[in-house]
Amino acid sequence: MGSATVAMVAQWSPLSNLNISQRSDCRLRNNRHPSPRNRCTSRRIPNMVKLSLNLKAELAGVNNLAPADEDGDFTYFFKVECTSCREVHNNWVGISRNEEAEISGSKGNATWVWRCKNCKRESSASFENAPVSYDKEAPKPILTFECRGCEFVEFKPDGEWVCEGEESGTKFEGVDLTEDWYDYDEKAGAEVSIIDMQWEIKRA
Ligand SMILES: [Zn+2]
Repeated sequence: MGSATVAMVAQWSPLSNLNISQRSDCRLRNNRHPSPRNRCTSRRIPNMVKLSLNLKAELAGVNNLAPADEDGDFTYFFKVECTSCREVHNNWVGISRNEEAEISGSKGNATWVWRCKNCKRESSASFENAPVSYDKEAPKPILTFECRGCEFVEFKPDGEWVCEGEESGTKFEGVDLTEDWYDYDEKAGAEVSIIDMQWEIKRA
C-alpha cells in the first residue's frame, strides 16, 4: 500500500515540475535576454489563428481547379480584420506565397507583415502550403495560413486559374473566376463551365 502511494506521487510530481519549469523558463529567458524586446514571447505574440480558404462551386465538364501558382507568385487578395481593434479594413491586400517580410523585434519572418492603420499594431500571416486543387468530388481547403494579430475575412479570386477537362484532360489556362466562367472543350465536344462560386474563410 505504502509503496503504491509513493509510486503515484512519483508519477504525478514530474508533471507538476514540468509546469513549474515551463513557467520559470520564461523568467530564465528574461534573465538571459534582459532587453524588454525579448521578454517571454508567449505574451508578446498576438493570438495566432489557423485559417483556410475554401471553395464551393458548380463545375461542369472540368475539375482540378487551382490558381496558376507553381512559382509562388500568384497574388491572393484578402480583406483583413485586425484582431486587436476589430477593424475590418476596406482595402484589399495582395499577398504572394514567395514573399517574405521580417516581423519587428526579431520574431522571425512571415509571408506578410502588416500594420493596422487604426490601432498601429503589427500583425502577420504565413502561408502553410502550396495551393491544393479544388476537386469537386472531394473538395479540400485550397490554402491554409497562420495569422497572428489579424484574420483574413474575405477573398477575391483575381488572377489566372487553371483547370482540366474532366474526361478529356484538356488543360484550360487563364481561367478568370471574377465571374462565372464558360468555355468549350474541343476534345470532349462539350461546353464547360464554373458557376456559383462561394468562397469561404474558415478556422482550420
Ligand atoms: Zn487594429
